[in-house]
Amino acid sequence: MKTVHTISEVQAAVAALKAEGKRVGFVPTMGNLHGGHLTLVEKAKEACDVVVVSIYVNPLQFGPNEDYDSYPRTMEQDSQLLMDHGVDILFACQTTEIYPEGSENHTHVSVDILDGMHCGKSRPGFFTGIATVVTKLFNIVRPDVAVFGEKDFQQLTIIRKMVRDMCMPVEIIGAAIAREATGLAKSSRNGYLTQEEREVIAPTLHQCLQDARKAIIAGERDYDLLRRNAFAKLAEAGFKPDYFNISSTLTLLPAGAEDQSLVILAAGYLGKARLIDNLAFDL
Ligand code: AMP
Repeated sequence: MKTVHTISEVQAAVAALKAEGKRVGFVPTMGNLHGGHLTLVEKAKEACDVVVVSIYVNPLQFGPNEDYDSYPRTMEQDSQLLMDHGVDILFACQTTEIYPEGSENHTHVSVDILDGMHCGKSRPGFFTGIATVVTKLFNIVRPDVAVFGEKDFQQLTIIRKMVRDMCMPVEIIGAAIAREATGLAKSSRNGYLTQEEREVIAPTLHQCLQDARKAIIAGERDYDLLRRNAFAKLAEAGFKPDYFNISSTLTLLPAGAEDQSLVILAAGYLGKARLIDNLAFDL
């Protein structure tokens, strides 16, 4: 695996591979890699000849009171994992290169229509930060394919729309959510949890999604009731629930009784972590 730190180095490395006719897959991450990230790497390997992974904790997607400073940075361990999984290029980006004039002074990319709901409501600027850095990384790496996790369902929907709207020449592939045996979605932020929070309380988030899906499949259409039930169960378990929304997978807007393709999106605060999860299904 070749590790590069600068834009010109990654561009040269990818150009050399493309000159050999290789199809390039790309997996952008913030590092502190776990099984979820590795699923994305595997998907990229299936679809492409070579895989580039970026690791960059993007300051633009963190709010002023969020965990940018404390976000886990484990470059050595990540690098070993990527090497073990046959990644070709690790692009370890640096803020001086990504935002040479500061992140706030940089051109911003926003997908407004999908931003003001779910995570966008409680994290203003979050998706603009993501759309901006992903656009920049796409322009730098120029991958044929990029893989994103369904764990971040709203993010994946936003990136798909951005790519479609802006005619970006990249194919977007979604990868299923990797979970722990308890059902908890794998996440770098699970590391903020105590053992009890992680093993006993956190899996409630996934259980609430499953309960709601079961009720909907059984015919329940009072989505507000399902939301109230989930909030009560999450609060009782020890969460401070943020949202629990039953939406159309296409628009992410609140689902109506006639919608057949649904996604239940949920987020809640537990101890030092904010956890998200979702469940998409067709009726
Ligand atoms: P992050 O490092 O958290 O920014 O995530 C990088 C990529 O990994 C994103 O596309 C995420 O959606 C994806 N990802 C994170 N956790 C999981 C998971 N448990 N299952 C599948 N994909 C994931």
